Amino acid sequence: MSTKSPLSDRSGWASGGAISELMAQAIANPDCLSLAAGFVDPATLPVDLVKQAAAEVLAAPDARDLLQYGTPAGAGRLRAAVLELFAMLEGVPTEELAETRGLTAGRVLLTNGSQQFLSLVCQALLNPGDVCLVAGPTYFVMLGTIAGVGGRAVRVETDDDGMTPAGLEAALDHFQTVGELPRVKLLYLVPDFENPSGVVLADRRRSELLDILDRRDPDGRIRVLEDAAYRELGFDGTIGASLWGRDRSDRVIYSGTFSKSFSPGLRIGFGLAPVELMQPLIDRKGNEDFGSAHFNQHLLARVLESDRYEAHVADVRRSYRRKRDALLAGLSEHLGDLPGVSWREPAGGLYVWANLPEGVSTGFDSPLAEAAQRDGVMYVPGELCYAPESVDPASGESRPRPTNHMRLSYGVLDVGLLREAAARLGRAVRSVL
Ligand code: PMP
Repeated sequence: MSTKSPLSDRSGWASGGAISELMAQAIANPDCLSLAAGFVDPATLPVDLVKQAAAEVLAAPDARDLLQYGTPAGAGRLRAAVLELFAMLEGVPTEELAETRGLTAGRVLLTNGSQQFLSLVCQALLNPGDVCLVAGPTYFVMLGTIAGVGGRAVRVETDDDGMTPAGLEAALDHFQTVGELPRVKLLYLVPDFENPSGVVLADRRRSELLDILDRRDPDGRIRVLEDAAYRELGFDGTIGASLWGRDRSDRVIYSGTFSKSFSPGLRIGFGLAPVELMQPLIDRKGNEDFGSAHFNQHLLARVLESDRYEAHVADVRRSYRRKRDALLAGLSEHLGDLPGVSWREPAGGLYVWANLPEGVSTGFDSPLAEAAQRDGVMYVPGELCYAPESVDPASGESRPRPTNHMRLSYGVLDVGLLREAAARLGRAVRSVL
């Protein structure tokens, strides 16, 4: 009998291990309060808006077309509506975007959530062994996506203002010294209210990071993948200036989603890519699914064409702000007196990043994880959010992943349960300190 695996090499690279572990924990312990899931608030899901939009699009003369196949790049109507929304976020009229940046609806690719867009970009740009630089910590699912195409995620020094310019320089120096600079293909950033850290990449840094790339990679070979999943979810309604808007080298690929601002169940995300990447991305998308759900695209287009979307997003922001406040109040009450325990107050998005004293592990097999399970609360171990490899700016060496952090999400639970979850977390943490 042959011992050779029937699976492709690629099957071995992909790993959904972390998510499976969290799901298994949740199923084994149904009374558990989850601060782990990055799901959106069920109370804000727009049932009435969707009912209304569905009735309207089905009453239109072209209703049958919506139940037909669409095209891989997506419905023209939604691509145009997405472009309008993007122009509004950028504060630049669509005509000007077309004139100055050549951005038209033809450069909008609609995908099944932004996760698919991130995956298509990794497939299109990374050969096995190629490097994607990431913040530390970063969106842990993306680490799996990079690994899934055989890529190497390498973490760059990051602080309260996001990835540091010195860290990026150090990473580029390192790969230059070891003769692997050509392998660095991608820099992945989540500039607004990052998952998992809640950090906003400081305005000055957005320019500085692009300046460094322009100086060291003037041909724009190293692409920047800007994941703007939480851009509209700033609690004071301020919309950050994108990396895309400052790009002078056509290197920034912009990824957006309607999952956080509207409904993840519709599975609609989008990407804006440089011209020469559009066709390769569309071709891959076609191979995967012929195009995202056509009906959902028209439904969302209808919502975007009305003034209902903006009003809904304003409600969502208010709801998350209330929930953030409830979780922070609970953390202060139940963990506030513990030395070495701290957390960052996010100004938007869905996540609080908490720090425990050095030497206390939050990992799946740690005493804390066991205590949390016993006390009925779940969190995402921070370790999952760090790429295994890093470049330390001082030494140029790779450092082990920090193990004393956790991601807490206030997305799913209501205000009362968030307080209770904080109390349970407080009990669990106290029991291991
Ligand atoms: N990027 C980030 C930073 C996220 O947190 C998520 C969802 N958790 C996604 C992308 C993907 O979401 P979706 O596919 O629903 O757009």
